[in-house]
Amino acid sequence: MDNMNVYEYLQSFHIKPSVQRIAIMDYLLKHHTHPNIDDIYTALCKHIPTLSKTTVYNTLKLFVETGAANMLTIDEKSICFDGETTAHAHFQCKVCGKIYDVPCTADDEQQQRLTSQGFSITETHRYYKGICPSCQGKTSQN
Ligand SMILES: [Zn+2]
Ligand SMILES: [Zn+2]
Repeated sequence: MDNMNVYEYLQSFHIKPSVQRIAIMDYLLKHHTHPNIDDIYTALCKHIPTLSKTTVYNTLKLFVETGAANMLTIDEKSICFDGETTAHAHFQCKVCGKIYDVPCTADDEQQQRLTSQGFSITETHRYYKGICPSCQGKTSQN
């Protein structure tokens, strides 16, 4: 996604696209590594010297509130962010700490039961924990 598309993406969530907001959103959309505030700050402060950690925090809070990004709290010690807002589950490796995106079926039995009971589901958070293929010594896709 180039800057113009990030600009439009933010506008579609009624977020006023400032240079810093575009840079942070762009980073989230390009890095599906579920970065935390420090990761994003460290990556962007070289390019935007005026950026502060508070700005990164406030911007991410705005993105989460408007639905432009998701916040993950798999690990209560580190809150991380996800630019991928379509339904997917996460797998956290207990060895390397890496968080993987894994597919999840949006229309599973439990969700259907809730919907039939009148619950409207707007977000699903599903986490798996274990050991990833590369930590098990197996070859993974990366
Ligand atoms: Zn691992
Ligand atoms: Zn994700």
